[in-house]
Amino acid sequence: MSSVLIVGSVALDTVETPMGLREEMLGGSATYFSMAASHFSPVRLVAVVGDDFPDELRRLFESRAVDIEGLQVSPGRTFRWSGAYHGMMNEAVTRETQLNVFEGFRPMLPDRYRDTPFVFLGNIDPVLQADVMTQIRAPELVALDTMNFWIDGARNRLEDVLARIDLLIINEGELQLLSGKSNVAAGIRDVMQMGPRSVIIKRGGYGSVLYHDSDWFFVPGYPEERVVDPTGAGDSFAGGFMGSLARDGEVTARTLRRAMIYGSVVASFNITDFGPWKLADLSAGDIEQRFNDFRRLVSI
Ligand code: AMP
Repeated sequence: MSSVLIVGSVALDTVETPMGLREEMLGGSATYFSMAASHFSPVRLVAVVGDDFPDELRRLFESRAVDIEGLQVSPGRTFRWSGAYHGMMNEAVTRETQLNVFEGFRPMLPDRYRDTPFVFLGNIDPVLQADVMTQIRAPELVALDTMNFWIDGARNRLEDVLARIDLLIINEGELQLLSGKSNVAAGIRDVMQMGPRSVIIKRGGYGSVLYHDSDWFFVPGYPEERVVDPTGAGDSFAGGFMGSLARDGEVTARTLRRAMIYGSVVASFNITDFGPWKLADLSAGDIEQRFNDFRRLVSI
């Protein structure tokens, strides 16, 4: 079994959905990703928190055996994000982003992280994502996530790093913004010209699409009625996806398809509660049962 490296944010999130408000709860792309991936493979985390980050929140990572040697503590305040979801809850409306210690962050991979075969560059400044690329050695697969904040604000830096990765994982709105196309197939063709040889488009409650080697694979959204908080759905999808690939240890049409389902499985659990705790509590049985439910959704 291979391991997965995640470089992303560890945050204190304030989130409002029609189901309620939670203030300063544990969040961030690296948090959701690592909780999800830890059910499939060993996970190494690189991120930064401030000296205000509560000790008890570290215990969640320890409870899932996530390797947090790469979690730096810098003087100052932890990154904070605040967002709200309305209506169909497919996309967050960002209310506030406080970069805080992220502003001076420079990812530093502990030496033993450098050979990690499966690497996920979470949604952070593309300059930092590029910096990580220079520190890793001969990875099997490098995947990258980004968001409007960077597509609008750091497009050239983003295009530089896109030229060097294997797989781009973004949502439909981000695809439109990046490619300028509203048609998914046309948009994917455009972004592949920027570098990645595979693309995954997340479509919120409608599922996800993989395009790899001229081949399409579609996974539906799970028909979940209790959507409480979609925060982290994209990152937990990516965590389940990368964790499953690392567990299989190779990238083939079959392992990619399996990974798409496992990503969808963990994301479908994540949205049923606030924060990342639901992900931490999943059992292998929960995951396998939901995997079979997904199979039934698409087979005759
Ligand atoms: P998602 O999986 O797309 O719902 O990601 C949600 C997480 O992304 C939240 O827990 C936020 O803390 C984090 N986040 C939001 N904006 C940013 C940003 N600009 N940089 C890094 N992380 C962010």
